[in-house]
Amino acid sequence: MRDRSGEKITLHMDMDSFYSAVEVRERPDIRGLPVVVGSDPKGGKGRGVVSTCSYEARSYGIHSGMPISKAYRLCPDAVYLRVNMKLYKEISENIMRTVRVFADRFQQVSVDEAYIDVGDSVIDYESAILLAKKIKCEVLRLHGLTCSIGIAPNKSIAKIASDFNKPDGITVVRPEDLKDFLFPMHISKIPGIGKKTQQLLRAMGIDTAGQLAAADVQLLIARFGKYGILMHQLANGVDMREVKEREAVKSVSTEDTFEEDISDPLEITRSITELSGKVHAAVIKKSFRFRTVTLKVRYEDFRTYTRARTLNAASTDKETIIKTALGMMEEFSGKGRFRLLGVGVTKLEKLDKEQTFLTDFL
Ligand SMILES: [Mg+2]
Repeated sequence: MRDRSGEKITLHMDMDSFYSAVEVRERPDIRGLPVVVGSDPKGGKGRGVVSTCSYEARSYGIHSGMPISKAYRLCPDAVYLRVNMKLYKEISENIMRTVRVFADRFQQVSVDEAYIDVGDSVIDYESAILLAKKIKCEVLRLHGLTCSIGIAPNKSIAKIASDFNKPDGITVVRPEDLKDFLFPMHISKIPGIGKKTQQLLRAMGIDTAGQLAAADVQLLIARFGKYGILMHQLANGVDMREVKEREAVKSVSTEDTFEEDISDPLEITRSITELSGKVHAAVIKKSFRFRTVTLKVRYEDFRTYTRARTLNAASTDKETIIKTALGMMEEFSGKGRFRLLGVGVTKLEKLDKEQTFLTDFL
């Protein structure tokens, strides 16, 4: 999206303490209590870490990434829960489906975060704020969860902004306010600057984005190579990256050559349903959602046709594959006998793979 002067506007949505918020939604009896999602505290002897915790738990000084044993010392009476990634992913998928509707281009970056570009339909920051409110309302209404949204001229500032006023916040950074917003920030707030880089920068006397922005680029290049240019740009509020739909080129398909050619509508339906089921199982196993369903038919005389139909939104639903494939089959049914039928899905998007470091711990 671009504002009136042709500047881009980007939104970043981040769910508020997602794992613990999901747990609280699933069991209302723990609402209002300090909830810590992570490894088993084992009465204070556990060796894992905190994945996420509720805002009530944060008031005890607990935060994500903290050793679970330390969290236990700070608040032994908190509700300690194991990470249920399967549940979080399922709910995440539903939320992303809701939010994607508002986007011209949509980029999910983790289980609970996404960038939203709404193209040219939102022309200024005022309309962008209205849109952000609408998104927050829908997420709360349909999924019972709150999120925070950052609105800014580019992705990295939008991401910093979504984190600025949590939970349940909207933070707007207009181009003219960008430097006042960014420069006082600690360098750890800049996406992509990790612990190690922070230490190296600190050794150079650089602690804030403003200091990094003012640093000699040649010095940064000498120290960090090309990455030095990038971090200097980010510290200056410059980020050229576009919101990218993550569509893999891959496809998943399966086909069946029949022992005897078929023409019976019931048999055709049964075959398409079975093939769709196999495709669905494969695509789910590979953690993809799909946007396009394909059909392949071969008549007994080897005339072969393929058809493809693209859905309004990416899906993980088996019935959608079946229905779409059967819909495309109507064109061919009743016009001969088939020796082969095939069903596939393309325009695949990877479901969340981030936060995998958590599974390394647990
Ligand atoms: Mg989050």
